[in-house]
Amino acid sequence: MKTLSCRDAGCDCDYVAKGETEEEVINDAADHGMKAHGKTQDDMTQMQANLRAAIRTS
Ligand SMILES: [Zn+2]
Repeated sequence: MKTLSCRDAGCDCDYVAKGETEEEVINDAADHGMKAHGKTQDDMTQMQANLRAAIRTS
């Protein structure tokens, strides 16, 4: 299971995106970022390197 804490991505938020692969985690995080933080698809694309770097594997 891979997880990505929204807080690790720089937001003051307790959401944690989860998935079996990096792609799933990124998609989950992007969906959350757009719904909860008003980000656009472009914002999420730009943040993708940072998001990937913040992914934890457990
Ligand atoms: Zn969040």
